[in-house]
This record gives sequence, structure tokens and C-alpha cells, in this order.
Amino acid sequence: MTTAMTTLAATPSYDTALVLFSGGQDSTVCLAWALERFARVETVGFDYGQRHIVEMEVRPRLRARMAALKPEWGDRLGDDHRISLDALAAISDTALTRDTEIAFAETGLPNTFVPARNLIFITFAGALAYRRGARAIVAGMCETDYSGYPDCRDDTVKAMQVALSLGLDKRVTIHTPLMWIDKADTFALAREIGGQPFLDLVVEESHSCYLGDRTQRHAWGYGCGTCPACRLRAEGYMKFAAR
Ligand code: ZN
Repeated sequence: MTTAMTTLAATPSYDTALVLFSGGQDSTVCLAWALERFARVETVGFDYGQRHIVEMEVRPRLRARMAALKPEWGDRLGDDHRISLDALAAISDTALTRDTEIAFAETGLPNTFVPARNLIFITFAGALAYRRGARAIVAGMCETDYSGYPDCRDDTVKAMQVALSLGLDKRVTIHTPLMWIDKADTFALAREIGGQPFLDLVVEESHSCYLGDRTQRHAWGYGCGTCPACRLRAEGYMKFAAR
């Protein structure tokens, strides 16, 4: 955690949002989406022993460059929080947290699936949002991803919204602006929100590659080019660029 916490919860505000910000393409676009809509925007990132820890390293640079891109974004962008979830790595045995080949299991899910990861992220985000007075949580889950992670589905997120609102006894809204759009549309949304400079920033600075490769630069950004996350990002970018 980079921020000193007060012992009491801040006054709840519908103008304050907490963005689940991993440094990936989706969460970077979500951060821009939130900066256009809320008076104050804070970010949270989770360190759970992921192999692509480089994601966590690109976050401060992304935040700094976004704050510099538009004066109003700079004014609205608040604290960053980093939460260590070592326990999640300890109970997981997946290709995201272990050095194993990425593959698809008999269930049809890739072994990059970390069981309950997003349920845990949303729960911690809810606790943090409560303390920071944010009534809105913004997250980049989407149903159109190839992987079909069940904890990214709209019904799962809505169930978590109800659970948090009941459990905190405060109305919490979870916004998922990317839920029904694919990666090509996410690139298009980036340009719509922040123009070409923001699109360029997303391509250059956001990180998707599961293997954490930032040595190879493609038209769509850095990555190994072959892992599922790189392929998804590359295909999305090509589809977007061809329009
Ligand atoms: Zn990759």
C-alpha cells in the first residue's frame, strides 16, 4: 500500500471512483473512462505473484503519462494503492503464477485461470473503496475475451456488487465499461476517449503479455507475440487498424 490510511472511513462520495488498474490494456482504458466521468479517481493494483509482474512496473509510468496528457486528468487522478495478495499465489497452481506452459484444461478453461481471482480483487477493492469514500468501482472485466473466465462475467460482477452493497451497508456500483466490447473496440474506445495521443500511450505503455516480455515491440505494443494475451491483443489491434 503506497498510501497511509486513516482509521476512519472517508465520507462516501458518488464523485469518487476506485479503478482496478493492473497496467494492462483493458484497465488502462478503464482508467481513462473513469477520469472522464469522476471528480476524483484512485487506482488499485494487486500483486499476487503473477508471472507478468512487469504489469505492476508499468503502472506508475502509465499513471504519470496519463496525468500529463490532459490537465483535467491530472487534477482528478488521486492516490495509487498496491495490495499484496501472496495468499492468492500460495493457493493457486496456474500458468499465471507458476512457470508452466499455458494450456487448456478439460473444463475448457485455460490454465491461466486463477480460481476466484476477480472475486477476491473485487472484495479487496470494495474494502478499500469503503475506506477511501469511493462509491464507484471501475473494472475491466469483459465477456468477449476468448478465455471465458467465469469470474469476468456480467452476472458474477453484478452478484459481487449486490454482495458488497449489502456487506458494507453502503451502495457500491461496479462499472465495467468493456463488458460487451472486444479488444478491437477497446482500442477504438481508447481513441474515442483520449484521441490519438492516448491510443499511442495505450499501445506503448500498457502491458498484456502473460510472459512479461517487453523486449519485442510490435504495432500493437510490447510482448512475446505468441502467448494467449499477446495473440488477443494483436488480433484486436489488427482488426481495429483495418477499419
Ligand atoms: Zn505474450
